[in-house]
Amino acid sequence: MGEDNPILRKKTKNVPAVTKEVKKLIKDMVETMKKADGVGLAAPQIGLSQRICVAMIEGKLTALINAKIIKKSKEKEVDQEGCLSLPGIWVQVPRHVDIVITFTDEKGKKQERQLLHFSARVVQHELDHLDGVLIVDYAA
Ligand code: ZN
Repeated sequence: MGEDNPILRKKTKNVPAVTKEVKKLIKDMVETMKKADGVGLAAPQIGLSQRICVAMIEGKLTALINAKIIKKSKEKEVDQEGCLSLPGIWVQVPRHVDIVITFTDEKGKKQERQLLHFSARVVQHELDHLDGVLIVDYAA
C-alpha cells in the first residue's frame, strides 16, 4: 500500500465477464473494506488491476464492475477525504455533486444510476483508483 505502489498508479482493465472468480473477489473486497471501516474499496488496493470496486451507495454496499461516469454536473463541492491505502493522509478534494454512472452488477446485469453528494463522492474516489489517481493528486 501507499502512493509509491505501482499497481495503485496503473489504469485497470475492463472485466470481460462476471465469473465465479470475480464474485469471490468482490466478496473479499467487501470483507476487507468492512474490516478497515471504509466506505469504498477498489481492486488495485488489494493488488488486482481490474475495473472493479465496491462502494457505499445510499447506505447500501454496492459492487460496481466496469463502472464509468456518463454524465456529471458542472457544480462541484469540496470535502475532506481519506483513503485506506494512504493511512493518516487527508486531502480536500473537489468532486462533481451529481453524476450518472453505468456499470455491471455482480449478477452480470447492466445498470445505470444517478448519484448525489456523498454517494457521488465515494464513487468518484473509487473510479479514480481504477484510473490510477489518488487523493494526494488533488493536494494543493
Ligand atoms: Zn482510496
